[in-house]
Amino acid sequence: MKALKERIIKDGIIREGNVLKVDSFLNHQLDIELFEKMGEEFKRRFEGEKITKILTIEASGIAIASIAARYFKVPVVFAKKTQTKNIAGDVYTSKVESFTHGKVYDIIVSKQFLTEKDSVLIIDDFLANGKALIGLAELVKESGATLVGAGIAIEKGFQVGGKLIRESGIRLESLAIIDEMSVEGGVVFR
Ligand code: 5GP
Repeated sequence: MKALKERIIKDGIIREGNVLKVDSFLNHQLDIELFEKMGEEFKRRFEGEKITKILTIEASGIAIASIAARYFKVPVVFAKKTQTKNIAGDVYTSKVESFTHGKVYDIIVSKQFLTEKDSVLIIDDFLANGKALIGLAELVKESGATLVGAGIAIEKGFQVGGKLIRESGIRLESLAIIDEMSVEGGVVFR
C-alpha cells in the first residue's frame, strides 16, 4: 500500500535490533486518516469473505482494528495480555513471546465474545516472528470459530513470521512488507 510505504520512509525510525519505530503515526500518535486508508484496503483485500468479528491484541493492534471494523461493520475483540487467567469466568488462552519486550505472557479472550459461529479476521500492526499472530490463531481455533485470514500493517519480511503463517495455510495480507532494513541503508520494500 503506497501511502503506508511512503509514510514509513518519511517518518519511520530504524533502531538497532531490527525494530522499526513508527510512534509518530501508528504506535503512539495515531494518523487516523492513514488508518482509514488501511481499513479500506483491508476491506478491499478481503472483499467477498464472510467476516463476523475482527480479533486483535492489546495495545497497539486495537486502533487499527477499530478503524478497519468501520469498513467491515463488525465488532472488534481484543485479546488481553495477563498473568491472571480468571477474568470474568471462562476464557480461551494461549501463550505469546513478545518480540519487543522479550517476555512470555498469556493472552486471553472471554468465551462470551468468540464462538464457533464466528468467522474471524485477525488484524495487527506488525508481523515479526509471528508469535502474536500464532497465539491469536490458537485462540480462534480453541473457540471453534473459522479463521478467515490475517491483515497486517507492516510485515518485517526478513523475520520468520510471514513464512510460518503462509506455510501454515493462513491467508495473510500485509500492507507493507519490508525485505531489508538497516540504520545505514533505510528500508527496502518487497
Ligand atoms: P511477533 O509476535 O510477530 O514477533 O511480533 C509482533 C508484535 O511485536 C507486534 O504486535 C508489535 O507490537 C511488536 N513488534 C514487532 N516488531 C516490531 C517493530 O519493529 N516495531 C514495532 N513498533 N513493533 C514491533
